[in-house]
Amino acid sequence: MSNPSSAWHRLRTGNELFSVPDRSSRSELISDRPVAAVFRCADTAMASEMVFGQNWGSLMDVSTWGHVIDTGVLGTLEYAVDTLEVPLIVVLGHHGCTAMSATMRAWHDAEMPDGAARAMVEQAMSSILRRGSAADSLAAITTAHVVETGLALLDRSPAIGRRVDAANCGIVCAATDQVSGRVRVYATIGAVGETDGALLECV
Ligand SMILES: [Zn+2]
Repeated sequence: MSNPSSAWHRLRTGNELFSVPDRSSRSELISDRPVAAVFRCADTAMASEMVFGQNWGSLMDVSTWGHVIDTGVLGTLEYAVDTLEVPLIVVLGHHGCTAMSATMRAWHDAEMPDGAARAMVEQAMSSILRRGSAADSLAAITTAHVVETGLALLDRSPAIGRRVDAANCGIVCAATDQVSGRVRVYATIGAVGETDGALLECV
């Protein structure tokens, strides 16, 4: 089993490899500015750059368990779209999500987690209610929550809303298959240009 010392040793060893002072090779690995911001669930095993086939550092990751929105998330995404002029936010859930499993237990068995994790379940349950989802499967809950998370970013952040209204930013609500890593789009907001596979388009 991993412990704090072994975990840090692993990271430090990896960083020593990264820190080789070869500027030319490093510039091939990282990007100067993010292509998009990915607001993702923290417990997925796939890095965003892996999922979307991008260079390391080309995506700004903002992750919370169950992609729950709080002030820190909004502030980070507003920085991304306003200051870095990132033109796209992807709300990225994933199938096999432990947060959605916890939500399903709370919904059907009234089993709420302790501590701050409770806020995640409450937000996901609110997504089910707003979406009018049947909540009879993890897939249904995942779909409801990624779509409502995208809509909530618009609702709770005037800055993001202004960028979307001006067609300077779009939002894609999607989830990855836990085995294949393929992305399915459930909704798009703004001038994203996605048509195939989107179940809902809010422009
Ligand atoms: Zn998850």
